Amino acid sequence: MKEFITHSAEETFELAYQISESLTSTTVFLLEGDLGAGKTVFAKGIAAGLDIDPADVNSPTFTLVNAHEGRMRLYHLDLYRLEGELEEIYALGLDEMLSEEKAVVLIEWAERLGAFDIPNATRVQIVDEGDDARRIVMT
Ligand code: ADP
Ligand code: MG
Repeated sequence: MKEFITHSAEETFELAYQISESLTSTTVFLLEGDLGAGKTVFAKGIAAGLDIDPADVNSPTFTLVNAHEGRMRLYHLDLYRLEGELEEIYALGLDEMLSEEKAVVLIEWAERLGAFDIPNATRVQIVDEGDDARRIVMT
């Protein structure tokens, strides 16, 4: 477990960027935290470390999943609107994304995966500690 406190969106971006820069093989990030916690800011940092323009990374609210091409492909999912049906998750093609040899899969609102188990994933919990402070716990 690793724990970080960031004091601005830029710091959260930078933290994710540092992690992402060194990625070379398939990695899954399960992001948990309330609305406005900073999940998308974190996603943008991950994107930047993969040579993807962070401006292109926004919560894929209506599509549930967006793919971005960088030095590795980034699949960015946001399950906020998921109704909780496991069939829906399979319909997104998550199994296929996870079996790609070189892809980063980042899932916002991973709480909604329910019983859908993803082995070897990094869980990132972001908690608003007031003002611009965020506690970021990675396990
Ligand atoms: P989520 O995707 O979790 O709903 P966003 O990343 O879209 O949240 O939004 C987070 C908001 O909080 C942004 O407006 C960002 O500028 C602000 N913010 C303030 N402090 C931080 C911080 N330390 N880390 C991340 N975001 C922060
Ligand atoms: Mg978001």
